[in-house]
Amino acid sequence: MKPVNALLANTGTPIFTVMSALAVQHRAINLGQGFPDTDGPAAALRDGRNQYPPMTGVAELRQAVAAANARHYGLTVDPDREVVVTSGATEAITACLMALLDPGDEVVLIEPLYDTYLPVVKLLGAVPRLVRLAPPRWDLPRAELAAAFGPRTKAILLNSPMNPTGKVFTAAELAFIADLLVRHDAYAVCDEVYEHLTFDGWRHIPLMTLPGLWPRCLRIGSAGKTFSLTGWKVGYVTAPAPLAQVVAKAHQNLTFTTPPNLQRAVAVGLAKDEGYFAALSRSLQAKRDRLGAGLAGLGMTVLPAMGSYFITADYGGLGFAGDDAAFCRHITESAGVAAIPLSAFYADLSSPGPYARFAFCKQDGVLDEAVARLARHFATPTTKLTAAG
Ligand code: PMP
Ligand code: GLN
Repeated sequence: MKPVNALLANTGTPIFTVMSALAVQHRAINLGQGFPDTDGPAAALRDGRNQYPPMTGVAELRQAVAAANARHYGLTVDPDREVVVTSGATEAITACLMALLDPGDEVVLIEPLYDTYLPVVKLLGAVPRLVRLAPPRWDLPRAELAAAFGPRTKAILLNSPMNPTGKVFTAAELAFIADLLVRHDAYAVCDEVYEHLTFDGWRHIPLMTLPGLWPRCLRIGSAGKTFSLTGWKVGYVTAPAPLAQVVAKAHQNLTFTTPPNLQRAVAVGLAKDEGYFAALSRSLQAKRDRLGAGLAGLGMTVLPAMGSYFITADYGGLGFAGDDAAFCRHITESAGVAAIPLSAFYADLSSPGPYARFAFCKQDGVLDEAVARLARHFATPTTKLTAAG
């Protein structure tokens, strides 16, 4: 038989699936895959309106997305022409890239990067240009970024707040990117799913709010992250009408519509007052600090994280002999705590150091138990800290 698509055939199981399965197998606390462990509102599921909604999303949600853009960022958005609802940010990322890219176009991607970016860019026949951020601060390497832009650059894919690093791009970094986009007449697909999950007074700035950038930007949000309901898969793209129109055509050919009852529930959520959003980031900041202090107490060095669900910990101080994939496997199997190796976020699976990503979007007792398990494990003199362990 003729071979199936070569790129997909050679794509392995996602690291999140691998580590979650291993966590279940070993009854480990799962601080790998980033999902909260609390339940959402059941009421929304009793909404009886269950038939195909309008392709670009129910009016209530498009209006709520436009209103949220105005309230949080001062953006004026036409809910009928400049918002497209998708089945999660995952679909939105693909739809936005489909909307922009022709085969041979170059796309600037920043490593470490979220797992769907690279395969989708390649599936569309576009050419990735990778730029690496360096730990521990993950500052934007300006010269390298500028060098990655050229006459064939169609777009940059920017994730801020960033998974897995927890970096929030600064106003100065965004201005530098904005200047490159204008100079090279390029677009930006902005994955902003963690927009409301920022800490220590850091504020997320959408690239599209910078002067002159609106016509070049597509901004992606996710109800999964904003309402701690990762299974709902409701995403939303905000973009100028000429771009949103094409994103809608991509969405038409991917899923066509997104469950209407979930969309209406998300519309209610987006209208929540400032108190909700402040409490969300306050609660996650406390969890970041709780887990961070626990891991630091074990001898790990926790890198600064200004946003997202994740902290990166340097486990070099624990004396483990093995790479990050081996370390994450080891702690899942032997300590009963799962994490994600940072190398999974690099195209060539290389890691800039002994780093593991821990999700802190869990109940306090779960975080405490995870730290206690790691403490018991690493305190045991007989523990063999080897890759084989
Ligand atoms: N982008 C990033 C950076 C993410 O971390 C996630 C998380 N799952 C997604 C996109 C996908 O979001 P969704 O669940 O809405 O598809
Ligand atoms: N975004 C989540 C994470 O980074 C996982 C999403 C997924 O499982 N694909 O952990």
